Amino acid sequence: MTPLAMHVLWIIFLFALGACVGSFLNVIIHRLPKGQSIVFPGSHCPECGRPIRWHDNIPLVSYVVLRGRCRACGTHIPPRYPLIEAATAALLAGLYVCYFVIDIRGGAGAFTESWGVYIAHAALLCGLLACAAVDVEYWLVPVEVCWVVAGIGLITSAAFPHEWMPTVSPPAAAAALAGTVGLGIAMLLQRFALLRPSFIDADDTTPGDDESGRHATATTAASGINPRKEVLIELLFLSPAIVLAIAGWLVTSRIESVSDAWTRLVWPAAGGAAAQHINGFLSSLVGLLVAGAWIWGTRILGTLGFGKEAMGLGDVHIMASVGAVAGWIVPSIAFFVAPFFGLIWALYLFVRRRQRELPYGPWLAAATVAVLLFYDAFQELIMEPLRTAGF
Ligand SMILES: [Zn+2]
Repeated sequence: MTPLAMHVLWIIFLFALGACVGSFLNVIIHRLPKGQSIVFPGSHCPECGRPIRWHDNIPLVSYVVLRGRCRACGTHIPPRYPLIEAATAALLAGLYVCYFVIDIRGGAGAFTESWGVYIAHAALLCGLLACAAVDVEYWLVPVEVCWVVAGIGLITSAAFPHEWMPTVSPPAAAAALAGTVGLGIAMLLQRFALLRPSFIDADDTTPGDDESGRHATATTAASGINPRKEVLIELLFLSPAIVLAIAGWLVTSRIESVSDAWTRLVWPAAGGAAAQHINGFLSSLVGLLVAGAWIWGTRILGTLGFGKEAMGLGDVHIMASVGAVAGWIVPSIAFFVAPFFGLIWALYLFVRRRQRELPYGPWLAAATVAVLLFYDAFQELIMEPLRTAGF
C-alpha cells in the first residue's frame, strides 16, 4: 500500500472514531454538570423519554437521516449534538493530518511509532472540548474529565517516552514527586476534616445555575465570605506540597550520595532505558504541577491583591491536564497566550456592542490548541528570547 493510501485510510478511520467519541462527549457534556450517571440510563430523548434505538444513534449519520428530529415524538434535536460529533471527528482526523501528514511540528516521527503521543494529545483535545462546552454553558469545569486526561497523560508519557516531552532534571523530578506527596497529605487532611475546603471547592462540586459556581464573586461577597481569607486557606492546603518540593530539590541537588543514585534512576543519559520511562513519567508530573501552579499562583496573588476571586480551581484542573499530557513548556506558553484570545473576544464584543461574557476555560483551551500545533513558532517567539536573556 502506498503511504498516501495508508494516510487516507487512517484519516477515514479516525474521523469515524472521532464521531463516536464526540457522541460520548455529548453524554458527558449534558449529564456530568447535572450530577447524572454517564452510563445509565442509555440514550433517550430528553423530551419524550423514549430510548433511542441503536440504528437511530449512529453519530452524525442519524441526525441527517432523521432530519434532526426524534423518531418517536418529532421534537427537534438541538444542532449542537451533531456539531460536537463533527468537531470531535475533525479534531481526531485533523490532529493526525497536522502531526503525521503535513508535519506541522518537528520530530513527530512515524504514526506507527508515535501513536502513544497521538493518543495522549487526542485525549487532551477531547477533554478540552468537553470542558470548554460545559464551561460556556454552566460556568463550571467538569474536573473529572481533567483527571481522566491527566491520567492518560501520565500513563502514556511513562509507557511511550517521546522527544516532545521535555526531559526534566533530577532535582526537578524529585521536587515534583515530593510535591505530589504533599498534595496527597493535604487531601487526606481535608478528607478527615482537619483542613477546611475553601469556598471554591464547595462551589465547584455542586452544579450551579448560570451565575453561581466558581465565578460567583457577587454572591460570595454578599454572603459575607472574605475571598482573601479563603485563598489563604488554599495556601495552607498547598503548603505541605511547597515545603516537600523544596526539600526534595535540596536533598537531590545538595547531598552527593543521594544525588548520584537519584540521577542514575531518572536521568536517561546516566541510567539507560528504564530511566527514559521514569523520566517520561516525571516529566508529565512536573508538567501537571507547573501548569497548575501558574493558574493557582495567579489566583492566590490576584485574589489577595484585588480582594475578589480571580480565576477558578476549574481552570487549575484544565491546565494541570495540559501539563500532564504535554509537559511543562506548552502550558507555560499557553498561560501567556490565553489572555490575548480573551482580548480578541472582548474587542469583538466591543465592536458588535454586545454583552456576552465568557468564562476563562475556553480561552485556556484555545490557547493550548494553538501552542500544541504551532509549538515551533511559539518556541522561537517566546522561549528563545528568554534563553538568550539567560533564563
Ligand atoms: Zn422524543
